[in-house]
Amino acid sequence: MGPQGCGKGTQAKLLADKLELTHLSVGDIFRWNLQSHTKLAARIKRIMDDGQLVPDEIVEEIIQTRLQQHDWNYGFIIDGFPRNSEQAEFFLESYDVDAVIHIDVPDEVTIERALSRRHCASCGLDYNLMYHRPESEDTCDVCGGQLVTRRDDTQEALERRLHDYRTRTLPTLELFQRKELVVHVDGAGSVEATHHSICERLRI
Ligand SMILES: [Zn+2]
Repeated sequence: MGPQGCGKGTQAKLLADKLELTHLSVGDIFRWNLQSHTKLAARIKRIMDDGQLVPDEIVEEIIQTRLQQHDWNYGFIIDGFPRNSEQAEFFLESYDVDAVIHIDVPDEVTIERALSRRHCASCGLDYNLMYHRPESEDTCDVCGGQLVTRRDDTQEALERRLHDYRTRTLPTLELFQRKELVVHVDGAGSVEATHHSICERLRI
């Protein structure tokens, strides 16, 4: 868990590789739905374009459907979920949680990172002008497509999502904390440094 731009997707991937877990990203599951034009896609798209959070019922339905595929033998690591207390309670009731990793970064860093994100309009590859720079600022290295900003990555939408995160997501940590599941990590440093502190805290 952590605010947008804290690097939780990247950290989840690294940890999943190290521990041979299945990495589930709520963002990726949403994007798959959008690309496959599923029934939920149009609803999700409207909400996301608006910079709002997708309602609980939809998120839970999507997560449950994905987890029912059971392609995770040794367990999974999920990022982007839960986002509020209701989702956290649902999650605690439904699955055995070993640990919750909280990656903290200051708001300025979050906003700076998110505003430098780009993605390829043709193949969908993600770039970041700070960390994963393309050869040329507006062209995809892989397919030559045009690099664009996500429509929900404006300063205003980011601030709204940060506010949602602080008021709705962050308080769920208390719920996990009560069960002593939470490890706190500083995410303001490099990807490697953050990964290193996560492994240290988890003693792996
Ligand atoms: Zn591309």
